[in-house]
Amino acid sequence: MRILLVEDHLQLAESVAQALRAAGWTVDVLHDGVAADLALASEDYALAILDVGLPRLDGFQVLASLRGRGKTLPVLMLTARSEVSDRVHGLNLGADDYLAKPFELAELEARVKALLRRSVAGGERQQRCGALVHDLDARRFSLGQQPLSLTSREQAVLEALIARPGRVMSKDQLAAQVFGLDQDASADAIEIYIHRLRKKLEGGAVRIVTFRGLGYLLEAVDE
Ligand code: CA
Repeated sequence: MRILLVEDHLQLAESVAQALRAAGWTVDVLHDGVAADLALASEDYALAILDVGLPRLDGFQVLASLRGRGKTLPVLMLTARSEVSDRVHGLNLGADDYLAKPFELAELEARVKALLRRSVAGGERQQRCGALVHDLDARRFSLGQQPLSLTSREQAVLEALIARPGRVMSKDQLAAQVFGLDQDASADAIEIYIHRLRKKLEGGAVRIVTFRGLGYLLEAVDE
């Protein structure tokens, strides 16, 4: 799952991004509102973390523009201001949660997980497809009770597939989940990850099906 972090305090942005990446998410970091607005219009994020006080466009404006385009991804607002009016304003514009600075990284991470759980899995802590189980809090997959050992990119591909069971995901859509803005997104690399995932899923009553020219889907195998 890919997260956008927009924070103009460079040091804070770096430490938050590091913590989120260590937890396994793909994180894009931007430092101003206009860049954020553009990225949110063109990229596919599972969640956005928006600072309120940003250069060029503030966090409220970025949020209003995002909701104006009908995008429903969860948004966590960060603010140095603790005024109630700010919080109400953000919530009215469609923010899902609010965190006042300074905050603990552990709290931010917990809130991100809760928001993703709500939006991705309808509040469930687990997603399933056949014998494959994705624990959203631990961010771990298991197959028939056995933990699956995955690289972060394999993990990102499998997360994207299990989030939309029975639906075809194109290579480009998968690449958008796996690669950040500063990385060379390669649809061809997706084939390699799919190949490796298939090996790891062998015998697990779940498979990745190829639809030529369209993409891949994950489905349970009847036994
Ligand atoms: Ca700021």
